[in-house]
Amino acid sequence: MTDGFHLVVDALKLNGIETIYGVAGIPITDLARLAQAEGIRYIGFRHEQNAGNAAAIAGYLTQKPGVCLTVSGPGFLNGLVALANATTNCFPMILISGSSDRAIIDLQQGDYEELDQLSAAKPFAKAAFRINRPQDIGIGLARAIHAAVSGRPGGVYLDITAETLGTVLDIETAKKSLVIPVDPAPRQIPAPESIQRAVALLEHAERPLIILGKGAAYARADHEIQDFVERTGIPFLPMSMAKGLLPDGHEQSAAAARSYVLGNADVVVLLGARLNWLLSHGKGPLWSETTQYIQIDIDPTEIDSNRPIAAPVVGDIKSSITALVDALKPGQVHPSEAWIHAISVRKQKNVARMAERLRANPDPMNFSSALGAVREVLAKRPDVYVVNEGANALDFTRNIVDMSLPRKRLDSGTWGIMGIGMGYAIAAAVETGMPVVAIEGDSAFGFSGMEIETICRYHLPVTILILNNGGIYRGDPEDSDPSPTGFVRNARYDKLIEAFGGVGYHVTNTESLSNAVQAGLDSGRPTLINCVIDPTAGTESGHIQSLNPKSALQQ
Ligand code: ADP
Ligand code: MG
Repeated sequence: MTDGFHLVVDALKLNGIETIYGVAGIPITDLARLAQAEGIRYIGFRHEQNAGNAAAIAGYLTQKPGVCLTVSGPGFLNGLVALANATTNCFPMILISGSSDRAIIDLQQGDYEELDQLSAAKPFAKAAFRINRPQDIGIGLARAIHAAVSGRPGGVYLDITAETLGTVLDIETAKKSLVIPVDPAPRQIPAPESIQRAVALLEHAERPLIILGKGAAYARADHEIQDFVERTGIPFLPMSMAKGLLPDGHEQSAAAARSYVLGNADVVVLLGARLNWLLSHGKGPLWSETTQYIQIDIDPTEIDSNRPIAAPVVGDIKSSITALVDALKPGQVHPSEAWIHAISVRKQKNVARMAERLRANPDPMNFSSALGAVREVLAKRPDVYVVNEGANALDFTRNIVDMSLPRKRLDSGTWGIMGIGMGYAIAAAVETGMPVVAIEGDSAFGFSGMEIETICRYHLPVTILILNNGGIYRGDPEDSDPSPTGFVRNARYDKLIEAFGGVGYHVTNTESLSNAVQAGLDSGRPTLINCVIDPTAGTESGHIQSLNPKSALQQ
């Protein structure tokens, strides 16, 4: 005989799930123990949201669903934020939660951690399923895998009742019930006429631009994309998590002339990028009203979401780019020389301006001077994963720290969420074995900071750099009561990690900052650098202040 516990573990192993991120408790503690005993790596967290974020980014990094395991009720709800974030960002993830007695839940008789979890998950997940009997575990997991990785990837909720886990079943029936999905993320070949429409637009484009999104990074079509960019000579702009898909130092990168290219391109190729708020919805002062779009995306309902798309190409990026390159004759696409020249003039000007800001060495440090030092260290370490969140900490790092390899930059993404830091850092280290630096605002760090214990417990090669200006956006003035955005002044975050056996640094100048980052990366030991930044440095909401509503009364 076997039981639900064993069958869940068998099904996960059969499907190549090597790691589970979770928080143990009723009714899944034995499931976690058994998974570990059977050779699945179990990474135990301090809060389900962080475990969920780890699973989500594991999915992004591996193209396999990352798995998060939680208890019922509140533990499940904690994980749900991460599931929703995964869905919003198109990361494949499966949240597995144990649930209490259905009969009691449905009559609302007040069970321990009672919650109708399936209904609660539905609005936040790409798909949600419940397994009510052990013989359905195999097919239930297969459904969850298909839903997570096919088409536009997303977060899937899989509810497993406590009763299902505990129910016994004969070995033969159990074996026959297991399923390995065949080709769960099938290629999606674009229609030939859609490729022809795209070619026709590109052929006459004088000022074309390619926008690379994290969908393009996820698709792992790195060579095909590079080939397309370099053959056509079209300038490209990476969205933040697409930085490094082509090196930021590539001569066709138009990142340093961003507003110029967005405002002046006649044809824009959206490659796994959405025209959402991060691109001002394709509208307003940043954009030209006459820009025409080619959008390559796996999800047909993304097309025309914000602006009419003249040439939609619905397909997976690898197949679509391959088809597009095959359809282009040599020299058929020719950005005008004037366009390339104008971009290069602006780039030079902006790069020089940035270099000046990075060279300045104010005391105390500001975001630019601190990150200028970090930039130098990381330029020699393209292997390092960079996790990044905050307001100013996010904006400045994105602009200052160059990436030269694909999928190395992991950040707040589509929602602009705070709290992904430690979860993403842990999963990046666990999944890849590579060193990670998490560049965090002091506020952003607070949302997942307790996971430094997790980082120390598993001896992960994670260096956490806290750009500490003493508050959300900035610190409070001396001698004032705490404002809604202020924190304790002169806080020593470095001492937190020492409590768990990690290495703490407290740095107040760029030289000791460089040394500390270097030492953290070289040692491979859990490291936290408290980097003191001028409390007056930092602007309200960073680059997106315009999103704060203004009362008509205040004007
Ligand atoms: P960014 O924030 O970097 O602009 P988004 O998350 O907004 O990126 O957009 C990613 C897009 O990529 C989504 O619309 C998603 O449907 C699409 N996508 C994800 N994976 C693939 C793939 N393999 N092929 C094509 N499109 C994809
Ligand atoms: Mg701050």
